[in-house]
Amino acid sequence: MYTLEGKKGTYEVVIGLEVHAQMLTQSKLFCSCSTTFGKSPNQNTCPVCLALPGVLPVLNKKVAEFAVKAGFATQSTIARKSVFARKNYFYPDLPKGYQISQYELPICQHGKLTVDVEEEGSQNSGKETKTFGITRIHIEEDAGKLLHEHPEHRSSDSTWVDLNRAGVPLLEIVSEPEMRSPQDAVAYLKKLRQTLIYLGVCDGNMEEGSLRCDANVSVRLVGSKDFGTRTETKNLNSFKHIEKAIHYEATRQIEVLEEGGRIVQETRLWDPDQEKTYSMRSKEDAHDYRYFPDPDLLPLLIEESWIEEIKKSLPELPDTKKARFISDYQLTPYDADILTSLKKLADFFEACLKDYKQPKKVAAWIINEYMRLIKADETMIESTLLKPHHVSETLKLVDDGTISGSASKTVLAKIFETGLSPKEIIEKEGLAQVSDDRALEAEIDKIIANSPKEVERFKAGNDKLLGFFVGQVMKAMQGRANPGKLNELVKKKLSA
Ligand code: ADP
Ligand code: MG
Ligand code: ZN
Repeated sequence: MYTLEGKKGTYEVVIGLEVHAQMLTQSKLFCSCSTTFGKSPNQNTCPVCLALPGVLPVLNKKVAEFAVKAGFATQSTIARKSVFARKNYFYPDLPKGYQISQYELPICQHGKLTVDVEEEGSQNSGKETKTFGITRIHIEEDAGKLLHEHPEHRSSDSTWVDLNRAGVPLLEIVSEPEMRSPQDAVAYLKKLRQTLIYLGVCDGNMEEGSLRCDANVSVRLVGSKDFGTRTETKNLNSFKHIEKAIHYEATRQIEVLEEGGRIVQETRLWDPDQEKTYSMRSKEDAHDYRYFPDPDLLPLLIEESWIEEIKKSLPELPDTKKARFISDYQLTPYDADILTSLKKLADFFEACLKDYKQPKKVAAWIINEYMRLIKADETMIESTLLKPHHVSETLKLVDDGTISGSASKTVLAKIFETGLSPKEIIEKEGLAQVSDDRALEAEIDKIIANSPKEVERFKAGNDKLLGFFVGQVMKAMQGRANPGKLNELVKKKLSA
C-alpha cells in the first residue's frame, strides 16, 4: 500500500482522474470543419465554430457512436436520452462564451475499468488486479488555442488566437475517487488509453494533447472516513509526469496540513522543469458555470437498435485478446500482455502466423528483437519496411537449416533497414549456413593441423577440448557453420 508518513500519523492519498480524449472524427462536433492537426491558424473554421451570429449547431453522428463504444468498453450504462448543456465562462479561446458539454444527463454513467497495477517494491509477479469506477463519460467540444508568440511576427506584447481546435469533439471520462497511489492512476490511464486506441476512438497521443489528464488529489489520515479537500492538477502530458505530480501534490498537502494549514480547493499546474505544481486559479464550483440545457440542440435520443448495431461492431478489446492469445497460442500471460499492449503489434503478430504457425517462436522474436527495432513506437509498425511476411519467410529459413538462429536476427535487422527480401540479405551478407560436409571438413582439417598440442591432449582423454575445436571452426567461418553438422564431423575427425 502507498502511504506517506507525517508527524500526525500515516496518510493515504485519494485520486480521481478526469481524462479528455480527442475523438478521431473527420469533422468537428457541430460543424463540417476538418479536424486535421497542424493546419495554418484558423484554416479549419467556419461561421459555426467561429460563433458568428445566427448560426446553429448540428450534431456529428459519429461522435455519438464513439461515445457509445467507449461506454460499452467500460461497462457503462448507456443513456437512451442525453442532453447537451451550456457551460458558461469567458475566455478568449472560447468565442461563444460558453462550451457545449453534457451535464445532468451524460451519455454514459456507472462504468468501470479493471487494471493490473504494478505493486511498488515487488519484483516480477507483483501485479494486483483492481477495478476503478467511472462516474460518467460525456461529450463536449474543445476550445481554441492561444499563442503567446506568433510564428512570424516577433511581437511579445500580443496574444494570437487559433480556433482550429475550437469545436473538435472530446470525450470526458471522469473516474470515481477510488485510486490510492500514483501507480493506480498510471495503470488506470494506461488501460483507458489502450482501450480507446483499440476502439479507434482516440489516437492516444499525449504529447500532442489528443489525450489529456487532470489529476484530482487529496490526502487523509489512514482510518479517516471523510475525504480531504482536493486540488486539481492540469498539464500532465506523460505517465511519468502524472506519477510525479501526484506524489508531489500529496507530499505538499501533507506539509500544509502538518503546519496547521488548510488545503484550498484550486486548480494547479504541473511544471515539468521544476517538477512542482503551482496554483493557477481557485476552483470554480459547478454553479459558477450557470449550466443549462442548450436550447439550440435537441436531446440526443439513441435507438435501442442502433446501440445493438454498435455493440456488434466493437473490436476485440485488450483483455479478450490477451486471454485468446494465451489459450489459442499457449503463450505465457507475460508474453500475451506485451503482444496485446499495442493493437497494431497484436495484428502484426497474427499476420506473421498466417503462413508460419509457430506462435511461440514468432512471439519470442517479436518480444526480444522487434520491440527493440521499433523502439516500442506504435507508429513504426506500419511505416517500417519490415513486413510480417518477412518474419515468416526468415523463420522458415532457420527451420530448413539455410541460416542459423543468430543469423536470422541479423537478417531481420537488415530487412528493417533496407526492405530487401531475406534471400537477398543472406546472399549479400554471406549469411547462409554451411552444412556441406566437404566445406566443413576442409575447415576442420586446417584447425586440427594448426593445433597439434590440443589434438594430443584430446587423444589423451580430455573430452572437453571438443568444444575448443568446434569453437575455432565456428570462428574461422564467422558463425556460419551448421552447429549440429559441425559437432558431428569434429568428433568423427578427431577419433579417426
Ligand atoms: P469538477 O467539474 O469540479 O472538476 P468533476 O465531477 O468533473 O468535478 O470531477 C471531479 C473529480 O474529482 C472526479 O474524478 C472525482 O473522482 C474526483 N474527486 C472528487 N472528490 C475528490 C477528493 N476528495 N479527492 C480526490 N479526488 C476527488
Ligand atoms: Mg471536471
Ligand atoms: Zn466550423
